[in-house]
Amino acid sequence: AQKTVLITGCSSGIGLAIAAKLAKDEQKRFKVYATMRNLEKKNSLVEAAEECMGKTMEIKQLDVCSEESIHNCVSSIPDRHIDILVSNAGMGLIGPVECQTIQEMKNVMDTNFFGLVRLLKEILPDMKKRKSGHIVIISSVMGIQGILFNDVYAASKFAVEGFCESLAIQALKFKLQLSLIEPGPVITEFERKVYEDGMKMDLSAADKETADMFTNIYLKNYKSIFQSLGQTAEDVAEHTKRIILSENPPFRHQTNTLYTPMTTLKYADPNGDLPIDTFYKMVFQHDKIFNASLNFIKLLRWRSKKSFDFGKPQS
Ligand code: NAD
Repeated sequence: AQKTVLITGCSSGIGLAIAAKLAKDEQKRFKVYATMRNLEKKNSLVEAAEECMGKTMEIKQLDVCSEESIHNCVSSIPDRHIDILVSNAGMGLIGPVECQTIQEMKNVMDTNFFGLVRLLKEILPDMKKRKSGHIVIISSVMGIQGILFNDVYAASKFAVEGFCESLAIQALKFKLQLSLIEPGPVITEFERKVYEDGMKMDLSAADKETADMFTNIYLKNYKSIFQSLGQTAEDVAEHTKRIILSENPPFRHQTNTLYTPMTTLKYADPNGDLPIDTFYKMVFQHDKIFNASLNFIKLLRWRSKKSFDFGKPQS
């Protein structure tokens, strides 16, 4: 039977790509409820999956920051039956914390973390009753490891990961599956919005050294990091589809093989110093370490390619 999939944040980027990919599945295995906060932004998705509209795809309004909007959307689905939830809506925030307001930080937590919590409060009880369901969360490598000037964003993704790690144990009892998708840099609206906000940021609350570090090191390298390491949203969507179709989906899945050497450092040193020292050297002793790391990354590339080998997809 066709599986129903509810996806959040489908007006752009990864959410749009996942919605289009699942709706266009040749075997028509999915009925996709592609949701977005603002229905006026539906055109790109409609263009990407025109032939699926009203067939394997419906577009619905859902704001992850509103319990009412989530409730109304879920209640409009026949029998409230959702087989697969893809929690994707999210936002970024970069810069020195002393230049960000608490309200800006709360918005990030409210979208990235409480957005997921609200969805689950609405959807989990039905899944538990049916003893079936798959919850797929678009987390980030920053849910594993913090990065310079991404303090609050990383915190929001760590919150997601901690929450899911706890919930996964309970989910197992109800035969529910939970998968965290952890992309590295992905070239989407996200990257552009975050960069533009960074460029506009009022840095007057920061000391000169911090402001310089943000502008002349972080922002200066931002685009080249996305260009050299960045994946496409379609690529992340392909990974997500494979996770959804696999018989034994893993709890965690990193989509970017170029990034795995960095996250591996975290697990290699229980003291936690290795990734921090490495990032420090990459940022502040750039040329020396950066080239060495790139070679290391290339060397490990073939190995990490093998890591995407976790069980057969369902037929
Ligand atoms: P994006 O900006 O293109 O997409 C984010 C979507 O979430 C947008 O459509 C936006 O409208 C939506 N959204 C924001 N607040 C919402 C709300 N309150 N209710 C409903 N929708 C809301 O960026 P993206 O890269 O496609 O991001 C999707 C997810 O991927 C996010 O969770 C992000 O944290 C994660 N991610 C992105 C990257 C990256 O580099 N782009 C890397 C790792 C993880």
